[in-house]
Parts: sequence; structure tokens; C-alpha cells
Amino acid sequence: MSFPRIIIHTGRIKENAHVISQLALRDGISITGVTKATCGNVHVAKAMLEGGVNGLADSRLSNLRNLRNYFGNDVTLLLLRLPMLSRVEEVVETADASLNSEISVIKALSSAAERQGKKHGIMLMVDLGDLREGLLPDDVREAARVVNSLPGVYLQGFGTNLTCYGGILPTEENLGELVDIAQEIQQDLGKELCYISGGNSSSLHLLGTGIPRGINHLRVGETILIGNDTALSEPFPGTRADTFVLQAELIEARVKPSVPIGKVGVDAFGRVPKNPEDRGLRRRGILAVGEQDIQPDGLTPMDPGVDILGASSDHLLVDINDNPDELRIGDYLSFTVDYGNLLRAMTSPYVNKVVL
Ligand SMILES: *Cc1c(COP(=O)(O)O)cnc(C)c1O
Repeated sequence: MSFPRIIIHTGRIKENAHVISQLALRDGISITGVTKATCGNVHVAKAMLEGGVNGLADSRLSNLRNLRNYFGNDVTLLLLRLPMLSRVEEVVETADASLNSEISVIKALSSAAERQGKKHGIMLMVDLGDLREGLLPDDVREAARVVNSLPGVYLQGFGTNLTCYGGILPTEENLGELVDIAQEIQQDLGKELCYISGGNSSSLHLLGTGIPRGINHLRVGETILIGNDTALSEPFPGTRADTFVLQAELIEARVKPSVPIGKVGVDAFGRVPKNPEDRGLRRRGILAVGEQDIQPDGLTPMDPGVDILGASSDHLLVDINDNPDELRIGDYLSFTVDYGNLLRAMTSPYVNKVVL
């Protein structure tokens, strides 16, 4: 298939899902696989399920609808982004449960579920300090009472999300607080809830050593998808990072100076270019892929002697001076991707998705 393309190694994604699910199981934790960085790609989702995740989650309704059409009612689907009030009917139609923090939306979900003859699960989000979504701890008890009194929904559990906006890391202390809140409210309501959901990939580093007892669920995307420990910014032990490989074709390869010539203004995006180091004359390449599909930071060349210089909308510039392969026009170069690049490449209609 033509370039640019992203090769999706489903076998490797399955391996990653298996490693994470098994590790979590030892702490009594089940894993929901998060597909949003791949636009709810069904092949990625299938690999996650085969690797042992217990259900799927995505932040967008259209992605969940794809997954529902493909898997039918065999899998549990969780909507991650707080539902829009204007879309509650579709939320109830498509997802088994959703993360929530707004009572007005939960009431609307309950009415929609009643109309559709369903019960929709509500995971109440608690903000432990990262300041993205969630009720502050003092407001959770009252919200739980309201959810419990509504006919179309049931309180499926409590969750938190960290390391997303504020960069606050999950710890024994803040996750312990989530468990305490959840257990108090369970006693209050006189019922056991299904999930106490202790976050995303950034909670995985606590497995085996410091995840508080009571946490029984995590929602994991990045570590399964690209093997990254998002709390420590390093490879997660036992997982692989060569799961998605971006490939782009060489359309120019010429020897040029390494410093631009002339008066410096701004680049294609209005940014003032950083002064590149003068390395004399170097062989440079242009690849037919650009900011519309990738971002130059966070791509890692898999070929030797390749350095990324920068990108404009449709061009990725690379230094190929030290590459031993005598690259020619029409050859392609391969890169592993970080989360931002995975997101962009999978979202771009210009990048062919090749499933292996
Ligand atoms: C994206 C998201 C996740 C998964 O995050 P990863 O870092 O990819 O594991 C979990 N929960 C919520 C609410 C999310 O939005």
C-alpha cells in the first residue's frame, strides 16, 4: 500500500495487553483497554481483547459506535469523556457505562435510559488534584445519593484521572483517598459497587508494590499501545514500543548547508526557528509526510544515521548524511511513534493504515 503509512503490529499489541492484564490480575485489578489514540480501530481493539483486557473504552461516541457495530453486545463499552448533554440518547444507545461528574447530565442519561428500556452505568469521577474532570471529594457523597435515586442509571463505581492536565502522579496517598471515599459511600448506601477505578497508564507503575488495596480497575491505553510508562517516561518493563511503525517516502535527497541562508523570519506556523548547529555541508532528505499527519518531536528513526530536523505541513526534513544505506529517491524511512504521533497519524486520512 502507498506511503505515508502506519503499520499496525496487532500481534505486538496483543502481547503488551497480555503483559499488563496479567500483572494487574495479581493485584486483583481488571483492565479496560483504551482505543482513543487509534480512533477506536477495531483491529487494535481485537488485539487488546485477545491479550486479556476485560472491556473497551474510548472518549468519542463515533469510535464507540464503530466498536459496537464490530463486536456487537459481546464487549462492554465505556465512554471516557464526560457525555455532552446534547448527546445523551446516543450515549445510552452505544455505551454500557460512562464517566460522569455533572448531575444534570446524569439525570438526562437516566431519562434517556428509561425511554430506551435500559440501565446505564455511572462511574462518578473524583478529582484528586489533577484538575481535569471530577467532583471534588466533598461533593461525591451527595452526587452518589442522587445517582442511586434515579431509575435509569446505576452507580457502577468511582474513578479518578491523573497525570492528564496538572501532571499530578498517582500515589498510594491519593489513590488511598479514592478507596476511602468509595468505601465510606458504599457503607452509606449499603451496597457493594463494581469498580474503584484508579486511573490510566500512569497508575501501572504502582502495580506489585504500592497500589492501595481496594483499587480493582484501571483504564489503560498508552502502555498497551506503545509500551510507555507514562508516569516515569520510560519503557514499561516487558512491553514493546515497535507496535506502530510510521513509514514515509523520500522525495528529495541533496547535499545542502546545515544552516539556512538569509534573514530569519518565522516558519510555516509562525514560530521563530531555533538556530541549527552549523555542521557544514550535509546530505538532507525530504519525506512526503508533514505536520498534518505527524509532529517532528516524538518520532524515533528506526534506520541508522537518520536525524529529524523539522517539519512543515507536508514535508518532514531529515539529515541522512550518516546513513550507510545509500538512500535513493523512492526509498522509505521508518519511525516508531510517541503518543502524540500515534494520535495524529491514526487521525490523518492521508496516512494509510496497514494491519499486520
Ligand atoms: C485517555 C484516558 C485514559 C487512558 O489513558 P492512557 O494514558 O492512554 O492510559 C483513561 N481514562 C480517561 C478518563 C481517559 O480520558
